[in-house]
This record gives sequence, C-alpha cells and structure tokens, in this order.
Amino acid sequence: IRKSGHLEYFHPKATLDDIGGLDNLKSWLNRRRQSFTQDARDFGLETPRGVLLLGLPGTGKSLAAKAVANAWQLPLLRLDMGKIYGGIVGQSEANIRSALQTAEALAPSILWIDEIEKGLSGMQSSGATDGGTTSRVLGTFLTWMQEKEKPVFVVATANHIAQLPPELLRKGRVDEIFFVDLPVQQERQDIISIHLKRRNRLDDFSSSELNELAVASKGFTGAELEEAVKEAMFLAFDEGHQLNKNDILKSIQATSPLSSTMAEMIQD
Ligand code: ATP
Repeated sequence: IRKSGHLEYFHPKATLDDIGGLDNLKSWLNRRRQSFTQDARDFGLETPRGVLLLGLPGTGKSLAAKAVANAWQLPLLRLDMGKIYGGIVGQSEANIRSALQTAEALAPSILWIDEIEKGLSGMQSSGATDGGTTSRVLGTFLTWMQEKEKPVFVVATANHIAQLPPELLRKGRVDEIFFVDLPVQQERQDIISIHLKRRNRLDDFSSSELNELAVASKGFTGAELEEAVKEAMFLAFDEGHQLNKNDILKSIQATSPLSSTMAEMIQD
C-alpha cells in the first residue's frame, strides 16, 4: 500500500471467493467484467460507471472493493473523502479534481471511495457555514461521474443512506446500488469456512459443526465472525490444544454483535 494524504494505492490480495454471501453483487461484478475490457470499448459498449454499496460496518463492502480490483486485474485507488477538505479557499475542490485526475491517469482503474457520506454530506466541515465547499466538491464529483470518458470504475461504500446526497442516488450516477445485509445462516457458515480455510483449519471441522456455529452466530457481521475465529485461535493456543468447535462457540457467546442493538436487522 502506498499512501499520500487522501489517496492510497493498493495491491489487494483478496478475491471474490474470499467473500461469503453477497451473491448478487458477486455475479453482477462477474457479468460486468467483460464490459470493462478494451475489446468491449472498441465494440462500443458503455463502460460501467460504478456501484454504491450500502450497509452496516463489517459486512464486506471494503472487501468487495478490493476483490473486484483483483478479479478485474486493475489498479485500485482508495479515496478518503474526509481528508480532501481543508487548506486555503478552493483547496478542497482542487484536491478532489487532482484525485479524479490521478484515477484517470491510471485508467483502466478502480476508484474506491470509502464512507462516501462523510465527504459529501457536509459532516466533515462546518455544514451550512462552509461557504458552499461541500456542495462544490459534490458538484465536481457528480459531474465527473456523469461525464468521465476514461474507464474508471467507482466503488463507493457507505454506512448511512440517510446521509447521502439525493443527487448521488439518482439514476445515471452509478449503475447499481447494492444493500449489503447481515449474512443469513448459510452465508455465516460460508464466512466461517472462509476464515478457517485461511488459517488452514477448515479440514478439522465437520459440516454439522460448521452448521452449529452458523446457527449460534445469528446477527453477526462478517467482521464479527472473523473476529470470533481469531479469538478462538488465541483460546486454543492458551489452552494448548488444536482449534475446535467449542473454542469458536465460546468466542461467539462472548461477543455482543453490533446488530443486537438493532433487532429489526436480523433475518433468520
Ligand atoms: P466498513 O463499513 O466498516 O468499512 P465493511 O463492510 O467495508 O465495513 P470490511 O472492511 O470489508 O467491511 O470487513 C472487515 C473484514 O471482515 C474483512 O476484511 C473480512 O476479513 C471480514 N468480512 C466481512 N464481511 C465478510 C464476508 N462477507 N465474507 C468474508 N469475510 C468478511
């Protein structure tokens, strides 16, 4: 990762197979892959503009941004919208313009805008008293989204739809909006399996044990499931045995998931 202020350059290792669930998004990204090639442009296909991923923290939105860059074999730039503000008058607008130019210079590329609501809703500056800076930054960004000619695919991620400017949600800005929900039981099982596999422990678990863990972790996000597996590894190490189902069950039971404060989120 190379970092310079509001822009970060990534070489992600994650692939789409590292994501449990998010099947609609994964198949959409797979279908769009071909339309992002030079052949497709020569044919006259419209280059995809981008997606907006909305959902709770820890559900795999950032992971998806990294995985798509890897799957499409394109450079990935992460733009921290919150950090483009400040400096002398006009500096914020100049910052966003130069960030967009960098993405274009690297094109074909992926521009990942993390927590886009923080940069476009006026939260980072002094709201109505910011002299219109936020709305000029928003204007610059939206015009670019609509008119950009270079193949830069935008992956914007956000936690709070209510804080997003309505203009961004309007048709024609992004190709698709995906709502990333909490994983359901089968998806939790897949996510637990992915994180066990990454630690070379998957073969030690039967499918009925994995099923039991998925049932026990109702309401957990992907990040919380990963954390439970990590904690369980510490537990097993401390107790001097190989990781087993009970270690993970214990760490699941010791976790109070973010969603427990929002009961209406849980689907199964
Ligand atoms: P935030 O809004 O806080 O950025 P996010 O939705 O982008 O959250 P990630 O940063 O992608 O969430 O998740 C953190 C980590 O949790 C990931 O790097 C991954 O290891 C794990 N994780 C989250 N969701 C999934 C998933 N669906 N499948 C596999 N692992 C996941």
